[in-house]
Amino acid sequence: MKNKSYQAINDSTCGWSHTTTEAPSYPRLEENKQADWVIVGAGFTGLAAAFRVAELNPDDSIILLDAEKAGNGASARNSGYIVDITLNDGGSSLADEQTQLAKSRLNMAGLELLRQQVNQYEIDCDWDESGKLHCAADARNIPKLKNFENFLGRAEVPYKIWQKKALSHRLGTDYYQYAVQTHKGVLVNPAGLVNGLLENLPASVSVYEHTPVSDVQSGDSIRMITPGGTVTAGRAIIAVNALMPKLGLKSDRVFPLTLTASLTRPLNEQEYQSIGKPEPWGVLSASSMGATVRLTNDRRILVRNTVEWWPSLKMDETSLAQRRQKNQMGLRKRFPGLTGLGIDYTWSGHVCISRNSKPVFEKIENNLYLAGCYNAGGVAMGSLFGKLIVDYASGLESEQLSYVLEQEKPVFIPPRPLLDVGLKTRLAWQRYQGRNEA
Ligand SMILES: Cc1cc2nc3c(=O)[nH]c(=O)nc-3n(C[C@H](O)[C@H](O)[C@H](O)COP(=O)(O)OP(=O)(O)OC[C@H]3O[C@@H](n4cnc5c(N)ncnc54)[C@H](O)[C@@H]3O)c2cc1C
Repeated sequence: MKNKSYQAINDSTCGWSHTTTEAPSYPRLEENKQADWVIVGAGFTGLAAAFRVAELNPDDSIILLDAEKAGNGASARNSGYIVDITLNDGGSSLADEQTQLAKSRLNMAGLELLRQQVNQYEIDCDWDESGKLHCAADARNIPKLKNFENFLGRAEVPYKIWQKKALSHRLGTDYYQYAVQTHKGVLVNPAGLVNGLLENLPASVSVYEHTPVSDVQSGDSIRMITPGGTVTAGRAIIAVNALMPKLGLKSDRVFPLTLTASLTRPLNEQEYQSIGKPEPWGVLSASSMGATVRLTNDRRILVRNTVEWWPSLKMDETSLAQRRQKNQMGLRKRFPGLTGLGIDYTWSGHVCISRNSKPVFEKIENNLYLAGCYNAGGVAMGSLFGKLIVDYASGLESEQLSYVLEQEKPVFIPPRPLLDVGLKTRLAWQRYQGRNEA
């Protein structure tokens, strides 16, 4: 497991971070340390793991390391949907439906963990219980939503159907034809949520940021090697999600994709009035390549409509500006009347994907555990997996843990350059299919 020269991939352009409470600051690791536990990665997974260790073992010392600014990975940069149930992984067989419902139960368990923490610590993250709308702009995608609707009906999951006229009124745009709303999901400012969790970490957790782990040495204890010092600990959790392959982990099973989002300035009163003063909303597309769009509590519009294979991960300024244009086009298509509405922030982030959409959750070696790869939906799932991986490392048992351990593992992916060709072709095809939803 080696990642000799870590290069920062997350800049400070994320709009959520600029429109919420400031992130706390932590030192770099500058000496050798010992702890009972070491956790690598301060996103939702690593944070949930830290909270869980402290809950189970109040006297244990915990060191939490992050390669960059703590919390500023995908956990701050996502679209802020804490999902209840997903659309795209449902199939038509009974077994597929059961799997989707089981996944929904896991998501709900993660959501409840977050809800409990938001309430307990009074975290200011624009927590909004209005659910999410799965929308089709292209009539060819309506049957997919109808299938989803039938599935929700059979599973007795509450939902609401939106026909075009009512939907236009609800959203303030007549871009969409049809929608299925599920009610239990929550919308947040994700940076506000992750910063709030960091702020409220138990006193037994010491955080070091800008401290990339370059090597993991295992034996009776685990040693994390970083540029400024080492951490030796009895047990270790690795929660680096899309960066697993960079650390030499699961590179034949998972790969990162890069997504780019933009957040506008707040709509002024006149603009807000011109779209009918809708309440905040969150739209997910019926197409996997379609746009995620939100109207936030502070009346900004978020558009995320690019998904790319970008092996270097870091997006330079010119490339980011090109993606901003694509986000802007998505905005104009939906709100042609808001001609003066400028974009304040554009940023990229990374999701971790496996070919069969399965997560990683396992013991890699004695006392060394790995959790991640949520296939683009890791706010709730990451929070649950962070807790469960600590339970697993602690020898606890539960129905939830058994279920997660029994799940199929990510299947083999070919090495580069075969992977490059395969991914580019597949993404291009999906982009073509979803061209009217982006
Ligand atoms: C644009 C975008 C939109 C998304 N929208 C949604 C959404 O609406 N809902 C949803 O549920 N999910 C969404 N996701 C996915 C979700 O953000 C992730 O699944 C989730 O944040 C994963 O959390 P994590 O803690 O596992 O990983 P991360 O948040 O990525 O945290 C991993 C941390 O590990 C650190 N790290 C990496 N390598 C090292 C190393 N070598 N040494 C030390 N530290 C290291 C990183 O700096 C990072 O802080 C989206 C993602 C993106 C990018």
